[in-house]
Amino acid sequence: MNNNFFEINNVDFKVGNKVKVKNVSFSIQNEGDIICLLGPSGIGKTTILRTIAGLQNIDKGSIELRGKTLSSKKINIEPENRNVSLAFQENSLFPHYDVKKNILLGTERNKGKKKQSINFEELIDLLDISQILNKYPHEISAGEAQRASLARSLITQPDLLLLDEPLSNVDQSFKEEIQEKLKKILNNFKITTIIVTHDSYEAFYLGSKCGIILNQELKQFDDPYNVYHLPNSVDVVNFLNRGILIPAEVTSPKSLENIDLGTITGNFIKPFPIGSKVKLLIQPEDLHHDDASNLKFEVIDRKFRGTNFIYTLKTPTNTLIPVFVHSHHIHQHEVDEKFGIKRPIHIDHIVCF
Ligand code: ADP
Ligand code: MG
Repeated sequence: MNNNFFEINNVDFKVGNKVKVKNVSFSIQNEGDIICLLGPSGIGKTTILRTIAGLQNIDKGSIELRGKTLSSKKINIEPENRNVSLAFQENSLFPHYDVKKNILLGTERNKGKKKQSINFEELIDLLDISQILNKYPHEISAGEAQRASLARSLITQPDLLLLDEPLSNVDQSFKEEIQEKLKKILNNFKITTIIVTHDSYEAFYLGSKCGIILNQELKQFDDPYNVYHLPNSVDVVNFLNRGILIPAEVTSPKSLENIDLGTITGNFIKPFPIGSKVKLLIQPEDLHHDDASNLKFEVIDRKFRGTNFIYTLKTPTNTLIPVFVHSHHIHQHEVDEKFGIKRPIHIDHIVCF
C-alpha cells in the first residue's frame, strides 16, 4: 500500500510496439504538487503523457492515481474514466466553436464534481483572453490558442492535469507573467499537474520536482536545485548546458588540481580516491571575477542577460569556461581582453564524474 497521490512503477513507454522511454518510475507525493518533465524533442515526452491519459497501453509495470491502478498489463481504464485531462501541445480547440464555447466545454465535463470550482471570469482575466472569446480558432494566434486550451483544461479541474509544452507558443515577454499566473491557479485550486517543457527555467520555476529524460531513460528525478547543482550524470550536465566539465586530479579529500585553474578546494558530493583523474563540473557561478588576480584568461564572448553577464573565457589549453558576473560590475571587459579569476578557488559542492 502506498500513500503517494500518483505513481508510475517500472513502466516502458511505447509508440506502437517501439519502446521510447524504458523502465520509468516516479511519484507525486501530494495532491496539488506540480512536477515537470524535461527532455529534448522526440525523446518521448508526449508519449508519456498520452500513456498516462490512457491513449496508449502499457505491458509492464503500473500507473496509479489515488491508490487506484489506471494502467498495467491487465488493467487499462478508459481515458474518459480516469479524470485525467491532457492539454495537447498542438492547438486542439474545436474549429467550429468559438473560444468561449471551447472553454465552457470544460465546465460541462466538471459539472457537480468539485465543491470549489474555478471561476470562468477570473480565469479569462488571469490568462488575458477576454478579447478573443467570440473569435474562432482560425482567427487567433498560436499563443492565444494555447492560452485558450490552457483555460479549457484548467476549468475541468481534473484529479491529474497533463500539460504538453503549454507555453511554447506564448511570446517570451508574456511568458513569465503567464507562468506566475499558472502557478497561482494550480496552487490555489490544488490541481496536481505534470508539465512537459523543454525550457529548463520554466521547469525549475513551476516544478517542485523535475524529471530529465535522455537516451530512453528518466535520468534524474529530483528537486530543481539538485538537478541544476547536483546533476547525477554527464548527460544531465550536457543537456542543461549550464556548465562545463574540465579534467582534474583529486589531490586530497577536499581538493583537486586542474592544469589551467590550479588548486580548487571544496566539498566533494561523492568521494573519489586521491590520485583519481576526474571530470570536474564548473558552472558559471563557481568562479569569481577579480581584476587584481594574476590568474587571467582571454575573453572570447560576453552575453548580457540583464541582471548579469556570462563571460566565456579561453584558457591556455583551449578550454572555454563560463563565468557569471553581476551586471552592475562597473567596467565591462571586451572580447580579447584579459579577465582575472579570484584565487584561491573554492567551490562549495564539488561535482565530479
Ligand atoms: P517528444 O514529445 O519528447 O518530442 P514524442 O513522444 O512525441 O516525443 O515522440 C517520441 C518518438 O516517437 C519520436 O521519435 C517520434 O517520432 C515517435 N512517434 C511519436 N508518435 C508517433 C506515431 N504516431 N507514429 C510513429 N512514431 C511516432
Ligand atoms: Mg512532444
